[in-house]
Amino acid sequence: MDKKPSLETIVSLCKRRGFVYPSAEIYGGLNGVYDFGPLGSLTKQHIRQFWTNHLKKESDNIVFLEGPILGPTPMWQASGHLENFHDPMVDCLNCKKRFRSDEMDLEKACPSCGVKNWTDSRQFNLMFKTQMGAMVDQSSDAYLRPETAQAIFVNFKNVYSTSRIKIPFGIAQIGKAFRNEITPKQFLFRTREFEQMEIEWFCKAENSRKFFEFWLEARHRFYQNIGLNPDNVRFEAHKPEDLSHYSQATTDVEYKFPFGWKELEGIADRGNFDLTQHTKFSGKDLSVFDEETKESYIPNVVECSVGVDRLFLALMCDAYNEEEIDGETRIVLKLNPAIAPISAAIMPLIKKLSEPAQKIYDSLKFKFSMQYDESGSIGKRYRRQDEIGTPLCFTYDFDSENDNMVTVRERDTTNQTRISIDTIEDYIRKTLQT
Ligand code: ATP
Repeated sequence: MDKKPSLETIVSLCKRRGFVYPSAEIYGGLNGVYDFGPLGSLTKQHIRQFWTNHLKKESDNIVFLEGPILGPTPMWQASGHLENFHDPMVDCLNCKKRFRSDEMDLEKACPSCGVKNWTDSRQFNLMFKTQMGAMVDQSSDAYLRPETAQAIFVNFKNVYSTSRIKIPFGIAQIGKAFRNEITPKQFLFRTREFEQMEIEWFCKAENSRKFFEFWLEARHRFYQNIGLNPDNVRFEAHKPEDLSHYSQATTDVEYKFPFGWKELEGIADRGNFDLTQHTKFSGKDLSVFDEETKESYIPNVVECSVGVDRLFLALMCDAYNEEEIDGETRIVLKLNPAIAPISAAIMPLIKKLSEPAQKIYDSLKFKFSMQYDESGSIGKRYRRQDEIGTPLCFTYDFDSENDNMVTVRERDTTNQTRISIDTIEDYIRKTLQT
């Protein structure tokens, strides 16, 4: 299929097959929040694993961290989020709907009610605020993190002094982030609760340009390896006049979503802004001592930050295909086998053969993400697996009892071959590695 699927097609597949549901749907849903169902949560696990493995391939000098979701007020003052993490907002005085004013033509009428009666545009802070402890006053204010990065910066010195690691090195983290987006939209693209995968790479100032280029190339390799169609991925450098005041260079990785080219990942040389700010606000010295020059310095940071959910959406859009086979249309998700929620399905040809088929399944279920499926005709079962992206189906039939072989059917080609039962494990492993 050359044509990209519409967003509605992807939303419908995600719901139908248990990838993604609207959150708390039985209560009418929660705007900008989604629940990941059985297949969605497996897919996300595989995305996280792929990202982590990729970092390990790129460098041995990366350690991992798990910071908290809650953060204290001074930390968000230092990071600039309390003062600057705003989007401009307008209200329609007629229908009371809210919009981001930078995405609207305020000369025109409200797209929701057709009346032109706007408030002035004003800044809206995207941080979710909460209170900690029994006392409710300003000192109990805390915020849900809008990015995972700050926990990395405030732990820089802890990690540096306890991990026997030398600059240059990276601290990576995967975790939830929260932004009170004015207009969550486009399914998983812009949500209020989402997940980020971030790496902060600490280096000397004179090397930051080199490492920025290194990470651009590394992230390019990541998108190639994960299997996104290169025609749908582009790297867009920010113009110098569009850079944040602290950023020395920023490039967005963009994906061609059904609703246009949009940011998937941000790669930035952040100078030493973050550690300098936290040094200033906390009063704690976050500099390191250079044994060669005998001088202390605050390291620069190169950051790569991608949303798990946005990447999930990009992968689903990219993998979706509708194909004609034997006069029938099949829906097939041509996901990278390492990302597909189910790596392989084991099927008895008929229910009578379930016992030996189940035995094969049991021998593999702790090694791979497996599914056992015995209900419906074999053709229907293959179609079901195609639709959720399962790269391999192994069928146990009447001959299997005698020749100790099964039929393996490949998702992309629909080719079928017979292989020995003893080699199934190897077969799956090889498929996952390609
Ligand atoms: P955008 O301009 O789309 O709001 P951003 O530049 O604010 O994104 P960053 O702060 O750079 O985003 O966050 C890094 C990554 O986190 C983004 O590239 C995206 O993949 C993800 N992300 C950010 N905001 C959201 C959101 N509201 N919903 C889902 N993913 C998000």
